Amino acid sequence: MTRCLSFHATYRCRDSGACCTAGWPIPVEADRVHGLMAAASRIGIRHTTEGAAAEALVVPTGAPPETPALLATTQTGACVFYDATTGHHCGVHRAAGHAALPLACRQFPRVVVVDPRGASLTLSHFCPTAAALLDSRDPVRIVDDAPAFPSDGEYVGLDARASLPPLLRPNLLMDWDAVSVWEGRSVALITTDAASTADTFARLGAIVDDVRNWRPGEGALTTRIEAAFATDRRRDSHTPPAAELIADVLDAVPSDLRMSDAAPREPRPAEHITRRFLAAHAFASWPLHMGSGLRTWLRSLEAADALLNSGYGVRGADRLLRHLADPAALARRWARAERES
Ligand code: SF4
Repeated sequence: MTRCLSFHATYRCRDSGACCTAGWPIPVEADRVHGLMAAASRIGIRHTTEGAAAEALVVPTGAPPETPALLATTQTGACVFYDATTGHHCGVHRAAGHAALPLACRQFPRVVVVDPRGASLTLSHFCPTAAALLDSRDPVRIVDDAPAFPSDGEYVGLDARASLPPLLRPNLLMDWDAVSVWEGRSVALITTDAASTADTFARLGAIVDDVRNWRPGEGALTTRIEAAFATDRRRDSHTPPAAELIADVLDAVPSDLRMSDAAPREPRPAEHITRRFLAAHAFASWPLHMGSGLRTWLRSLEAADALLNSGYGVRGADRLLRHLADPAALARRWARAERES
């Protein structure tokens, strides 16, 4: 089974080329090298983009032998197979089909958690097509087996099939039913029930603090979660300053991926877009699985909101959160929230 948010359920690649010109390294798995090289010789890499290198693949200098090759890029950072002058921009896709693409290309912009319940998908809004889907006022719900994401599709991401459920707080696990209830209730609160984004964080802060105090023997965790979301309590803000949240994100970007960007200056998105962006980070959340409890998860939402507040826009925020920052490093930083009083 697959699960996604309703506003993502109609996603379809529109060949924007954003992922092909982003400039980040794209590894090529060993089982794709042959097909990709065949595609390269069939189309003639030199014909793709001005400034294209003759080679289709590069191996980082001095890298260990098992290091995967990377797609070669032009001087502007575009993949050498990218050709903006044709209707179908990807030369590999044109010459050899979807299956010949490296995994990163086949998955973009999907962000996936696979666990015993199935594959939960959210999208990276660095993709302009995915970003446009945020601009909807339709009610938001979690959709099973959306036609865009059939259950027999390829979903690769955080593999939690053999893992224990996420932590409620350090040293105490949730159960999978509780995770499903948590996702459903938090998406409803963020997109509909809270009066504003500020109200979302005040209410989520109170709910997280309540639920993480649950003890085994006090009844089902799902019941405690339902009850916490039914209350109207708010917590005074414990959110760190935006500069601190953003520093955590920037510090989690490996040094070889740090790019000299222009100062962010996007206006904060409209409220309905912000709410859907935050829901897309609340659902299928890697920090929930990789962190140390619900406060780690909440801190990931606070960081996403801080990036929007600071002018990154949804594309710039997800470029950092979904593609450049190391997820494990982010989870470690955000997990500091678990020790706060
Ligand atoms: S191989 Fe195709 S899809 Fe992948 S980055 Fe290059 S042009 Fe884009």
